[in-house]
Amino acid sequence: MSDDVLSVIPTDPHWQPSKAAADRAAAIVADLAPGTPGGVDVEIDVTWHDTLTVVDCGQNLERIGCPHCGASIDTEWWAALLEANCEDGFATLAVEVPCCGVESTLDALDYDWPCGFARFEIAIWNPDRIWFTDEELAALGAVLGHPVRQIRAHI
Ligand SMILES: [Zn+2]
Repeated sequence: MSDDVLSVIPTDPHWQPSKAAADRAAAIVADLAPGTPGGVDVEIDVTWHDTLTVVDCGQNLERIGCPHCGASIDTEWWAALLEANCEDGFATLAVEVPCCGVESTLDALDYDWPCGFARFEIAIWNPDRIWFTDEELAALGAVLGHPVRQIRAHI
């Protein structure tokens, strides 16, 4: 059995909201993804991460592009990186990319589908919709107190 998870995270990987702001944002998310009557219950998880945590797109990942040389970065390299940091999170996003050796940061790479890093996350398990609209994301960001982006994972 597989799951689809739509996550909303702050655009700044280090940023965290207050509890009250997070509660208000989670309430809006629940309104926007209410589930289907008689269908599967939508589950919403609100998480504060102690360390920088990857919010990856799982099996939706098709390609990682290098923003410096344009090469495709081996997804095995990415998978090994996730494996190595899955328990303690990421101490830093600084990285030397394997293609051209440039010093970059992990959140600057071109992920298709998008991946991100966060210390706060609202995750919607098996939502009855694909993506939030730009207007909905803007409204969520306004309530939360920081602009947000969305990641969709298939796991
Ligand atoms: Zn490169």
